[in-house]
This record gives sequence, C-alpha cells and structure tokens, in this order.
Amino acid sequence: MRNKEIKYYSTNRKSPGVSFREALLKGLAPDGGLYFPDSIPGIGKDELKDLAGLEYHQVASSVLGKYTGGEISHNDLDALCRDAYNFDIPLEKVVHRRYIMRLDMGPTASFKDFAARLMSRLMQFFLVRENKHLTILTATSGDTGSAVASAFQGLKNIRVIILFPENEVSAMQRKQMTTLDGNINVIAVKGKFDDCQNLVKQAFTDKTLAHLNLSSANSINIGRLLPQSVYYFYAWSRLALNSDESVTFSVPSGNFGNLMGGLTAKYMGLPVSKFIISTNENREVPEFLKTGIYSAIRPSINCISSAMNVGHPSNLARMVALYNGVMDETGHIIKDPDMDRMKHDLYGISISDNQTRDTIAEVYKKFNILLEPHGAVAWNGLEQYLESEDHERIINDLFICLETAHPAKFPEEIKKNTGHAPVLPPSMTGLEEKTENFLTVENNYEILKNHILNLY
Ligand SMILES: *Cc1c(COP(=O)(O)O)cnc(C)c1O
Repeated sequence: MRNKEIKYYSTNRKSPGVSFREALLKGLAPDGGLYFPDSIPGIGKDELKDLAGLEYHQVASSVLGKYTGGEISHNDLDALCRDAYNFDIPLEKVVHRRYIMRLDMGPTASFKDFAARLMSRLMQFFLVRENKHLTILTATSGDTGSAVASAFQGLKNIRVIILFPENEVSAMQRKQMTTLDGNINVIAVKGKFDDCQNLVKQAFTDKTLAHLNLSSANSINIGRLLPQSVYYFYAWSRLALNSDESVTFSVPSGNFGNLMGGLTAKYMGLPVSKFIISTNENREVPEFLKTGIYSAIRPSINCISSAMNVGHPSNLARMVALYNGVMDETGHIIKDPDMDRMKHDLYGISISDNQTRDTIAEVYKKFNILLEPHGAVAWNGLEQYLESEDHERIINDLFICLETAHPAKFPEEIKKNTGHAPVLPPSMTGLEEKTENFLTVENNYEILKNHILNLY
C-alpha cells in the first residue's frame, strides 16, 4: 500500500502546505507556525510485527519512509539511517515488565543525538543533490549545541554557527562543542541564553546576511521531530510479548519534542495505552491537562533537570493541533483542543527537585541503576502514575521510562545522591586533552555580524 503524498501544514494555518523537503529546509513556516503532517501515515499490524526482526536503523528507515514521500528513495534513506544510528539503545530491565530505555549512548550522550544526526544527514542529502549551501545559526544553553555540532561536523554544503552564553554552560558542555573543527564555528556571547536567542532572531531578519542562506536547527524543525518517533517503535518491538500488547511510556518533557515523537508513533498505530508526561517544577502542561486552562510560566523555574526548564514548550502548538485545537506561538488558544481525548492519552505530573534527588538515591539503592535528573523525573512520574491506578490490573502491563542523558553529564548530583561517581562513556572521554576553539564576543549584534561575515 502506498501512502498518499503528505503535505506539511503550519500550525498557525496562515501559510500554504509544503513538501517534506521544504519543511525540513525552512524550519519555521512563514506565518510563524510549526510544520506538521496533514495526515499521519498508518503502520499496519503486519508491519508492526515485522519490526521485531529489524535493527534500529532499519526500523528508522521503514517508519520515516512514510513521511518523505517521493523526495528520497528507500535506498538513500536506508543509507542515511545506517550512518546516523551507529550506537546502542539499551533497554534496561528494572523489575517485572518495567524498563528504562537508555537514549544516552550517542556521540554527545543525550537523546538529542537521535534527532540531530538524522536531520543533519537529511539536509545534506537535499543540499548536495541540488548543489546548494546552508548556514545553520543556532543558540544553545548546552545540550542542543553539542548534539547539533557533533551531528553536522564534516557534512558537506552546511556550515554551522553556534552561540552560547559565556557563563551558562558547563565546562564539559562547552568542550563538547568547541573541540570540533572544520565546518563548526562556536561563539561565546557575553550575555545570557535569551541574549543569544535575540541575536539569532536579528540575524534571521537581516537582509545583508541573505547570501548565507541561514537556517535554524532547533527543536521545532519537523526533521528533528519525526526521528524521535522511531525509538518508541523500537522499544515496543523488542519488549512486547505479542502484537496486541500495549505499552505505557514515561517521557521527561521540556519542549515536548520527545513527547510529540511518541504521540506521532501512537497515531501511526503503535499500541500505546498512555504517555506519562513527567515535567520538573515547570508544570504548565500538567496544569493545562488538569484544568483545561493554559498559562505559561515566565520566567521558567530553574531545576536540576536543566534541559527541561521550559515555561512555554515550543512544541505545544503541535500537541494542541493533534487534538484538533489551535494555539499560537505566544501560547494563546484560538480553538480549544479535544480535552477528553487528550486526557485519555496523557497523564501529566510535575516532580520537584527534592523528589528528583530522592529518586536518584532510591533507584540506585534498590535496583543498582544510575539515573540522572531527567531520567529520575520520568521514573518518579511512572511510580506516581502506578500508585494512582488499580494495581491489580496493571501488574503485568509493559512500562517503559525514557532516560534522556548519561549520568556522567551530571557528576555532582549523582555523587551527592548515590555516593557513586558515574563513569564517563567513551564518547565523553579524552575531551580534556583536546584543544578548544571558539571566539568570545560582546552581546552586540553589529559586532557579532562582523565576526560572522569574517568567518566566510
Ligand atoms: C532536551 C532534553 C529533554 C527535553 O526534551 P523535550 O523534547 O524538549 O521535551 C529532556 N532531557 C534531556 C537530557 C534533554 O537534553
């Protein structure tokens, strides 16, 4: 069965639908909305069953092939997926039917590698074929920058400029970005993360930089979102006892890209009973689910699960769209979503920093498993969900908790709460000896712009 050609519409519904290629290379729709497929392609029962015999990169290619239409051949997509996914995805058993999926074995030890590595290769594929060039300009508060820098390093027809706030990223995060060379340029800004983001926004509207063909690589790109549906299929295909067995996932959420990947998988046909949305103290979405009223948290609250310190998730407009509502980029609801269906699919829970620390300690003591703060938020969310439900009914159900970063990225918290120093994964060793290469600039647009023009 061939799926009809999918168009990507803007969640603001004011600019026309585009092809996969265009949505990928554009990033944001001209009306400021986010691209999302106008129909979610189905995956049949037989196809689901067959996933069990496939390796991760093959699962990726067969799921994503449904979205790329005729714009990329199956052979080409196979090759891109094989190249992107060359690392393990361990499914660690905790107790009977309860697992942790470790998405932390990629080159920068964060789950963002899954999206960044495939998006970069997809972009390169189209650019090389069309003999075009692109400059990625992006601001980072840590994890995204290193995943993007690592993913794009050495690719053809793409240059990358990453801005980070001089004093707001850890030495390890900085080294992960600044020890790469070639097409990667890293710039420290004497300012805060918001300043970096404002500089990026200004550059995007600056006509004198038009020749650079600027594009962003942030989490709103559809090319980052869709690859995040694949590991949900993969986990289920390894652990489900039969093709009817459904699963509940606990997802540590900040900008809700990870969750949107999961929801996309569910609406393709993956049997998911529930997604537990586990947030830190930035509880705007759990509150929204409870009350039906959305109010962003500004400024966002600083928690130890720092990659989830988001007071207004950038993917929320997509979630609302999936439930037939409309939300603009400021968080204003223009059309109400179907709250009943949303509550049926999603369970929201907010976890405090103290609960997060206790969970790190307990899971280590009870199961000898090291969790970092983001994974601990998800595990605590799962435990609380189990307590809220009829225990008899769910004792044999399958539960999978997502661990999104490697514990070695948070050595102080881990040491403090378990007494144990996490061992660095191979991807993070040897950074100390490498030479760092970056510029430091004032928080001033004209100065930054001159630096960028001097680079190329
Ligand atoms: C980005 C990130 C998250 C949050 O993912 P979203 O897709 O933004 O919800 C969670 N954990 C880690 C380690 C991250 O880097």
